[in-house]
Amino acid sequence: MNSYKIAVLPGDGIGPEVMEEAIKVLDRVSKKYKMEFDYNYADVGGVAYDKHGTAMPAKTLKTCEDSDAILFGSVGGPKWENLPREKSIERVALLNLRKHFDFFANLRPAVVYKELRKISPLREDIVKNGFDILIVRELTSDVYFGKKISKDNFASDEMIYRKHEVERIAKVAFEMAMKRKNKVTCVDKSNVLASSIFFRKIVTETAKKYPKITLDYLYIDNAAAKIIKKPYELDVVVTTNMFGDILSDEAAAASGSIGMLASASLNEKGFGMYEPGGGSAPHLTGKNKANPIAQILSAAMMLKHSFGMEKAANEIEKAIRQVLAEKKRTYDLMEEGAKEVGTKEMGSLIAEKIK
Ligand code: NAD
Repeated sequence: MNSYKIAVLPGDGIGPEVMEEAIKVLDRVSKKYKMEFDYNYADVGGVAYDKHGTAMPAKTLKTCEDSDAILFGSVGGPKWENLPREKSIERVALLNLRKHFDFFANLRPAVVYKELRKISPLREDIVKNGFDILIVRELTSDVYFGKKISKDNFASDEMIYRKHEVERIAKVAFEMAMKRKNKVTCVDKSNVLASSIFFRKIVTETAKKYPKITLDYLYIDNAAAKIIKKPYELDVVVTTNMFGDILSDEAAAASGSIGMLASASLNEKGFGMYEPGGGSAPHLTGKNKANPIAQILSAAMMLKHSFGMEKAANEIEKAIRQVLAEKKRTYDLMEEGAKEVGTKEMGSLIAEKIK
């Protein structure tokens, strides 16, 4: 029997609760597809800080190194809010992981299922058929990592891109597009910025190795408008760190709930970390109220991108859509005529569809 090792890092707040539901679904997949998942649990975040004095213990990093993928919950909460910056829970946990594994590619699906069109803030005629955008955001360069100068009478941030950084993110986008509709939109600000002219040029050169791909371009301002006017015209979007940061949150807002958002971070070896878009939602903790779908979709992304189990990933997505179509909803997805269910019930309803 094929087997994969998964580093499971539930973290704080709702993290452990929603993780339990993702594991419930993975267990069904394991049975059906005759796969073995070896779950290696490790402490991260505030819970790790309390036990080991750091949000990212060396032992946890080692568990991640020894695994085939990382399934991450969420970290942080009011208890640890006043720690000094160098001990900050989110910073220490997430930055350490990103740096240690060189996760340069951030995949942020922005999906509105047509079953959830009523909870999207976009007009119903725009989302009547739903939409499915994959934002491929560069994560380790750009203005966030360029040289910073802060003086009394001025401050500046250097916006920089190097050739290999653009090439590798472009490759990820093209590879993803080949599993979808063979279409990539490069989003930049090349009418103004030198780093964007360069980004666009290298993306265009890299595209020559992918003759099946149709590549088009949008300036960031036009892309932001398109997401609210005609989101269904976008498929894979490749973009720089800062534009990706803003655009992925805008696209995510269109889905109507943060509880639906999954994400993946990948390195050059294809090793990945998978996590929900939201945080630890302290006011929902322990109430059996949080939506587990983002965590379950993160597990599905792991199956697809780290284990090549596309069929199983699609089956999970189908199960989620069926449950939503039956109008069983967690509190954040409620609409007229729907029945509210808790975290555990939602997890079980989804798992039961995988037979
Ligand atoms: P949050 O994402 O936890 O909450 C924002 C809003 O979304 C809240 O109303 C919350 O109830 C709701 N929400 C989040 N996840 C949900 C889910 N699964 N189902 C239903 N509703 C959900 O962000 P915040 O309130 O800004 O931060 C809370 C804590 O989480 C802070 O300590 C912050 O540092 C931490 N945080 C961690 C991560 C991470 O682990 N990657 C990301 C963001 C925030």
